[in-house]
Amino acid sequence: MQQSETLMKSKKIKRVNALLVKKFGIPKRNGLPNPLDLLIATILSQNTNDNNSYKAFQNLKSCYKSWDELLDEKRSAIKSRIRIAGLAEQKSAAIKNLITELHKKNDLGLLSIKQLENEQAIEQLTAHKGIGVKTASCVLLFALDRNVCPVDTHVHRTTNRIGIAKEKTPDKTFFALNQNFPEGIAHSFHTNLIRLGREICKPTKPSCGICPLLKVCDFQDKNLNGKTTGEKREFMLLDNVDVKGETSNVKGQM
Ligand code: SF4
Repeated sequence: MQQSETLMKSKKIKRVNALLVKKFGIPKRNGLPNPLDLLIATILSQNTNDNNSYKAFQNLKSCYKSWDELLDEKRSAIKSRIRIAGLAEQKSAAIKNLITELHKKNDLGLLSIKQLENEQAIEQLTAHKGIGVKTASCVLLFALDRNVCPVDTHVHRTTNRIGIAKEKTPDKTFFALNQNFPEGIAHSFHTNLIRLGREICKPTKPSCGICPLLKVCDFQDKNLNGKTTGEKREFMLLDNVDVKGETSNVKGQM
C-alpha cells in the first residue's frame, strides 16, 4: 500500500472511531483477564451470541478448580457443559486439544505468547486446531492489551461498507486493517463497530438514515429509510471475563 493510502486509511479509522465514540461512548473495560480464560471464552463465542457463550463459559468454569482438570475429563462432560453455546462437538474438541497441548509445553498461562510480536503470537496461537485468526487476535486485544483490532463478521461487513477495507473475507480484512493501525484506539474501534453492526449496520437493510457514519461511509446501497428496533446490544462477552479469572457473576476458583 502506498504511503498516502496508508495515511488516508489511518485518518478515516480515527474519524470513524471519533464518530462512534460520540454515539456510543468509550466502551468499558474490566481489566485484563487471564489469557487462557479469554481464549476459552472466545472459542465458546464462535457462531453464537454473547449471552449464550457467557453462560457456557460460566458453566464450564464453575465446574473445575483449574483448567488442567480438563485433561482427564471426558469430552462428553465438557460437551454437556457448553451445549448452550452450540457446536459443542467442535468446541469441546478444540478446548480439550488446546489444554492438552499447552499442558505438554507447560504453558497453561500462555506466558510464551507474551514475549512475542503480534504476528508471531497469532501464528503460534493459530497453530492449535480450532483456533483461527479472530480468536487469536481477541487474546491479543482483550488479554494482552495489544493495539490489535480483531475482525468478526460485524467488523468485516462494516469496515468494507465504510470503505476502510476492500476484502472478501474477515481474515483478509484483519491483515489489511491492522497494517499501521492508529495507536491506542483498537479496543474502542472494534467494540463500537460490533455494536454498530448489531444495532444499525445490519447485514440486510442497514439503517443508514440514523447512522453516525452516514457522511463518511462509502457504501453505495445506503438504506435511508431504515429504522432500528431501538434494541441496545452492548453486552460484550470478552469485556466480561474478569481480571481475577472469574466471570462477573460466578465465584470461579481458578
Ligand atoms: S451509513 Fe449505512 S452502510 Fe454505512 S456504516 Fe452506516 S449503516 Fe452501515
